[in-house]
Parts: sequence; structure tokens; C-alpha cells
Amino acid sequence: QVVTRFAPSPTGFLHIGGARTALFNWLFARHHGGKALLRIEDTDQKRSTQEAIDAIVEGLDWLGLDWDEPSVFQSQNAARHAEVAQLLLDHGHAYKCYASTEELEEMRAAQRAAKQPMRYDGRWRDRDPTDAAEGTPFVVRLKTPSTGETTIADEVQGEVTVANEEIDDYVLLRADGTPTYMLAAVVDDHDMGCTHIIRGDDHLNNAFRQLPIYHAMDRIEGGWPQPVYAHIPLIHGSDGAKLSKRHGALGVEAYRDEMGILPEALFNYLLRLGWGHGDREEITRVEATSLFTLDGVGKSPSRFDLKKLQNLNAHYIREADPTRLAGIVAPLIDGDVDEQLLARAMPVLTVRAKDTGELAEGAAFLFAKRPLAVTEKAAKLLDDTGRERLAQVSERLKGEKDWTADALEASLKAYAEQLELGLGKLAQPMRAALTGTTTSPGIFDVLVLLGREEALARIDDQVD
Ligand code: GLU
Repeated sequence: QVVTRFAPSPTGFLHIGGARTALFNWLFARHHGGKALLRIEDTDQKRSTQEAIDAIVEGLDWLGLDWDEPSVFQSQNAARHAEVAQLLLDHGHAYKCYASTEELEEMRAAQRAAKQPMRYDGRWRDRDPTDAAEGTPFVVRLKTPSTGETTIADEVQGEVTVANEEIDDYVLLRADGTPTYMLAAVVDDHDMGCTHIIRGDDHLNNAFRQLPIYHAMDRIEGGWPQPVYAHIPLIHGSDGAKLSKRHGALGVEAYRDEMGILPEALFNYLLRLGWGHGDREEITRVEATSLFTLDGVGKSPSRFDLKKLQNLNAHYIREADPTRLAGIVAPLIDGDVDEQLLARAMPVLTVRAKDTGELAEGAAFLFAKRPLAVTEKAAKLLDDTGRERLAQVSERLKGEKDWTADALEASLKAYAEQLELGLGKLAQPMRAALTGTTTSPGIFDVLVLLGREEALARIDDQVD
């Protein structure tokens, strides 16, 4: 059975790179009918915050990414991490290093001066631990293979080979007995049964360092098969530079709250960011689940493109259920909002909106209080001529029996002809009077949505 995990460190918000990693893990598991797990890597207690945990959990939930077991909190597994470190020590795959911080700094300074790569030189690897004075603090280091090479057949990067001498004997347990990320991640991945590790390619180097733990533990107790790796390229900005805040590397909640993006639009966008199926842009969650494989993940960094996200958002806004949309948009509108009216208005509002903020703006006139505030531009349409026409329109509308868009259109068209005016000459002051603005849905839709009484009252407010 396929088991994937998303393993964020709760030291900041869930940014879109993380969200995409989560999405790929989730889709891969769903595609294979396996399990997707969430692990909060909260071992850095100083930098981890509850606020960040909440933001991550909420962001994932909003995107519709659900997890198959309760979240694992890495900090709660510290005893287990130490236990594995002890096993590695007991079986000679790890050793205690008593080198002091100053000593290691000297070592690095010398390496820097000699222009050598800076890495731990293994000075305690073969040394007798009794050389250290009683009570000297120590860290536990992994005895990594020093000869030969390691090849990883990465599902995205292809075969990548690293010489083992490049991998130093890194720290598993710190002097205070706490595990490092490198140890904790491997132990948890094993204990959670993760078969596939899908993450950013900034972790590719870590894979070479983590594998020796699997190999050692497999020799010690068996049952530690190495996972399949898929390191996905990072997201870059539209200018090709690594994504930063300036490019839109915001928290997922900013896409929702500040940019008015629907979750299904961000889902689709993140999917297409680095994964493709032919040239298809619009792919629903259900289709994605059936189509997603790692073959479709590109090898080069994808570029973040805000326009594309907005276009997808406009598409999903038009597809969305009006009642659901009304629920999302209502809190964005000032005043008493009748959600049923808002839902009825959605089909005409969604035609031009790219985000939920625009929907709220477009819907505001429905809930505005009389007498309406009128924009400067709209006020110009309500000059003497405009008001005279409104008086005529008001008379005409008062005699109208059938208050439907079709009937109102037919009637006002006939009336404009009778007055030898273009329909626009009537519609423009009407729009100003009915909405207080110069842009709105079609005027007949506006009349119907407002209803006879309110519409006539708004027109008469300008005539009297
Ligand atoms: N906590 C790590 C991160 O947020 C996860 C690394 C991994 O997936 O192994 O980058």
C-alpha cells in the first residue's frame, strides 16, 4: 500500500510551495488508493508556534486536502528517536563524538583556509571513547560509508549519484539528547510506514544522508526498506528567480482573503504548477485524482503566474454553486445581506468577476440603502436630461405587469423607439439611479433582482 506524508515545520505560514508539496503527496496517495499522512515537524520548539500549526491545518483543510490518520507531532516521538540512536550506537553504526564546539570551529576554520569542503572530519569515529574525560558532553554521530557511491533513482530527478566521502558523519542526537531533523524524519517516516517521500528538491541532498540510517537499521532489525524518493523542483517567480514574497509567495490564507481565490482554483493552479497532462489547464479534483502520476512532474522549476491563477479562478467562479458562492461573498459586503437574493444574483455577477472581492463589489448595489450614494461618474448621468428620462421610464415601468427581464427588455426597447432614442440613453441614467455606479450587470437583470418596488423607489428618488 502506498503511504505518503506531508511534513511541514510549523515555523511560518503554509506558503504555496508547501501547499503544492502537500497536494502532490495527497494526490499520489489518492491516485493509488493509499494513505496520505500529516506530520507536524515541531522539534524546533523555539521557532514552532501554535499559530503556524493552526494556519497550516486550516490552509490544508480549505484546499480540501484531508489526511488519513490524526496528525503526528514529531516532538512527541523524541524517546523513540533516542531509542533508534541507541540501537545504532549499540551496533556500531553510530558513535559518540566528544569534540567541543571550539574544537569543531577550529577544524572548520582550517578547512576554510585550505579551501577544503567544510565537514566533520570523523575525528571520533575510530577513537576510544575512554579518551574523553568523565562527564564530557557528547553528540551521537552516524557512521556513514566513507567509500563507494550512492545512487538514488529519484522518480522526478532520475538517477542521481553522490560519492559517499562527501557525506559526513552528521549528528543524530545533540548533546542535550534531542534528535536532529535528519534522524527524526527517518525514524518517523519508517514508523509511519511511508513508502514514498515526495518533497522539494532542496531536500535531495538530505536523501543521501538519510539513506544510511535505513540501511543500518535494516541490517540491525530488518524491515527498514528504503522509500521511493520524488524530489520536486521548487517554484520560481515569473522572472525566473527563486520565489519570494514579492512574487506572491504568500500564505494560503492570503490567496483566500486578500486575493479572493476559490480553493478549487488554487488546487487546480498548484497542480498545474509543475505537473502536466497534455496541454490541459482546467482539471478538477476528481480528474486530478485519477490522472496524477509522478511521470507528469517536470524536472525544471515552474514559474508562478498570477494571471493564470486569476483566469482559473474566474473559470471556477462561473462553475461554482450560487448558494455556496453567496455564503463566501456575503461577509465581504457591508450592510444587511440577503443571502438568497445574493445567490439569485450570482449567475449575472459571475460573468465578469475574477475573484470573490469583485463579486462582492458587483453585488454591493443590491444591499445599498436608499437614498443611494452615487459615484461622481454616475452623478453626471443624473443631470437634467437624465432625470427627465428617468421620469419617463418611471411612468412606463409603473404600468408594467410582467416584471421579468424579457418583458422589461421588450417594453423598454419599444419605448426607446417611440421616443426615438437609443436604448442606452434610457439605460445609462437607470443604471446610475439603480446602482449608484456606471458599471453593473445588464439593466434588465438589475431591475428584476431589485424587484419592482425597490427599483421604482430608487428611480423616483432621483426624479423627485
Ligand atoms: N520539515 C521539513 C520541511 O518543512 C520536511 C522535510 C521532509 O519532507 O523530509 O522542509
